[in-house]
Amino acid sequence: RPLDRSARVFVAGSRGLVGSAVCRHLEREGFTDVVGPGSAQLDLRERRAVLDWFAATRPDVVVLAAARVGGIKANATRPTEFLSDNLRIQVNVLDAALEQGVEQLLFLGSSCVYPKFADQPIREEALLTGALEPTNDAYAIAKIAGLLHVQAVRRQHGLPWISAMPTNLYGPGDNFHPEHSHVLASLIRRFHEARTAGAQRVVNWGTGTPRREFLHVDDLARACLYLLEHYDADGSVNVGTGTDLTIREAAELVAEVVGYQGAIEWDAAQPDGTPRKVLDVSRITTLGWAPCIGLREGIAEAYAWYVEHRRSAA
Ligand code: GDP
Repeated sequence: RPLDRSARVFVAGSRGLVGSAVCRHLEREGFTDVVGPGSAQLDLRERRAVLDWFAATRPDVVVLAAARVGGIKANATRPTEFLSDNLRIQVNVLDAALEQGVEQLLFLGSSCVYPKFADQPIREEALLTGALEPTNDAYAIAKIAGLLHVQAVRRQHGLPWISAMPTNLYGPGDNFHPEHSHVLASLIRRFHEARTAGAQRVVNWGTGTPRREFLHVDDLARACLYLLEHYDADGSVNVGTGTDLTIREAAELVAEVVGYQGAIEWDAAQPDGTPRKVLDVSRITTLGWAPCIGLREGIAEAYAWYVEHRRSAA
């Protein structure tokens, strides 16, 4: 069921990595009424403001891509904010959307909601079958609450709301903060700074042995619209490539793209996080969707964006 291109689509989190990619994609696809206030205009943690904003704006479709996010260190050191901000954002947006009878809504979860030692590749059914990875359990619990909230509204109110579970993301618009960002953005920045400074040695976090899967955010944005148009069921849908590599291999790839030729070292005193995280993507590929941006090409594009926006992205 194709969405009406004149539908009013509210992208919550429109200034973030995911939300900005979703807005670009919707506009490319001919949507004419995409709304996405920034956090200065609408703080999604403020319940009254969110309810009032929905009552005034009456969106037809909502993509909930707003969240407090961060890499392994940000999650491990600020669990209070990761829990509280994410719960508040979700409850406010989902309650307001229900109050206004929003017909279609897509909630974005995260692959970290799955158990730390889930069978790999991780199927959607693994949700709530085991203990979480402690470095991001607060974030994961908040996201799990959101998934259940969407499911509850489907069951109780019959609205066709859905959830998607993206794997680790990267791309233009990412956060490149040296301490708070996710791994690919951190590596891009570290190798770029080392190359431009003529340094012969970089030190990355952990052992380099964990395995991760990476999806370009423009691929996720395509998947979001695809799911809104092709999926309507209780369970959430994994969105990824189905392919993983070690952090060490990812670092070597980033070094090549950036042109850094010095030594790559590892600091095992820093956390590794979960040993492996790769999604089973058979549900979404059976629906007819597949990613199309290769990792090397995607990293090159993210690197070009970083170089161009370095001052503001820092
Ligand atoms: P995770 O997938 O939730 O663990 O989140 P991250 O993207 O932050 O980290 C992925 C992996 O990359 C972990 O094993 C980290 O130890 C490793 N890593 C290596 N260097 C870095 C770095 O500079 N920043 C981050 N965020 N992770 C790094």
